[in-house]
Amino acid sequence: MTATPAIDGWFTTGPDPTLLGSGCTTCGTVFFPPTSGFCANPACAGEEFEETALSRRGTVWSYTDAQYQPPPPYVAPDPFVPFALAAVELPDGLVVLGQVAEGYGVADLHVGAEVELVVEPEHASDQLIWRWRPLISGRVTEMGEEADQ
Ligand SMILES: [Zn+2]
Repeated sequence: MTATPAIDGWFTTGPDPTLLGSGCTTCGTVFFPPTSGFCANPACAGEEFEETALSRRGTVWSYTDAQYQPPPPYVAPDPFVPFALAAVELPDGLVVLGQVAEGYGVADLHVGAEVELVVEPEHASDQLIWRWRPLISGRVTEMGEEADQ
């Protein structure tokens, strides 16, 4: 079984996955999901974009428990299993919504918490989606930091 991104061209896979946005070549504004056509910056007349890898880490801007099934492209398991969602502010100047990584929930989140992008299979399928993993001391080993045993 080869795992493939659920949405082609929105993120890379591998050990250090990144989201792929569109950077306006005129004003430098970065958009996610990837866009084309006209720049959404009202002060810019740009129409050309280049693929831009977004920062892999950001901070939680808002979060919630998803108790109801979201609309597509979310692929709901049957029965629907509630999960945590985080809106993450990236240094690139945008906020990207995503599920919280497998094994984590709202109890692991707070506004301002640092999170890192991971790519995980959705509901044991071969479809990969991006998620935000909280960087919690003792659970994620950082360089120069000792992991709790
Ligand atoms: Zn622009």
